[in-house]
Amino acid sequence: MVPKVDERKETVSCVLCGSDDSRVYWECDGYAFVRCSRCGHMYQNPKPVFDDLKERYQDEYFHYELENDQPFFELMRKGLEDIRFDRIEASISDPRRALDIGCATGMLVRYLSERGWHAEGVEICAPAARFGREKRGVTIHVGTLDSQQFPDRSFDLVHFSHVIEHVPDPRAFLEEVVRVTKPGGYIVVVTPNTASLQARLFGRNWRSAIADHLNLFSRRTLRHLMEETGLSVTATKTWGGIAAGVVPAIVKRPTDRLAKLLGFGDVVLQLGRVRE
Ligand SMILES: [Zn+2]
Repeated sequence: MVPKVDERKETVSCVLCGSDDSRVYWECDGYAFVRCSRCGHMYQNPKPVFDDLKERYQDEYFHYELENDQPFFELMRKGLEDIRFDRIEASISDPRRALDIGCATGMLVRYLSERGWHAEGVEICAPAARFGREKRGVTIHVGTLDSQQFPDRSFDLVHFSHVIEHVPDPRAFLEEVVRVTKPGGYIVVVTPNTASLQARLFGRNWRSAIADHLNLFSRRTLRHLMEETGLSVTATKTWGGIAAGVVPAIVKRPTDRLAKLLGFGDVVLQLGRVRE
């Protein structure tokens, strides 16, 4: 979404290592991503104050989510297939409880419910949550994760796709995720990959270098933060070599395959388990 002109901004330190030493990496239109000189993490600095940022996730965002809910869901399902979700599922005894954070209109919540999970979602965009509840009949809480105050060790699985790059403090967010997940429980994180072929090719014009993204991760920096917050990373997948329409299909297909094989795909999925 386009930043509102009256949004307040604040200067922040690196969420991974705490350093203030960084240099501007991508100067975009009205905002900039810096790269931490100590650990290499990339983040928006200065960043919008979150109370103002929340205003972006209203009606316009809902229409964007609604228009894309089927393709986004297909990508999530493929990601789960890649990490052999069926095996994970089979290893958890009933009743299995799942949470999808940033669940949009609740496609994944419904999918998991149909597979026998007690699944619920959290969504900051109130119209999207309402749509999911009314049209899909699923449980969706409106707000952020921390506003829900779930009891400790509530879930066997917590999933969040294209969320961690939006949250103001990804470290506090992951700590809260770990708190509400059972020891040995699974965490699935999906986020754009700054070490991707497309990020390198397009730089500040990369499709994920947008104003809504406050932190941008690579496999390495995401793993680092997950491990520091009590998770063991047990699988990593990347996918998407090059965007549709950029090159002919004859180039796109092998590039996509190679990206997946070599780990320079545009999106990274990391599977973590809460350390017991
Ligand atoms: Zn750092």
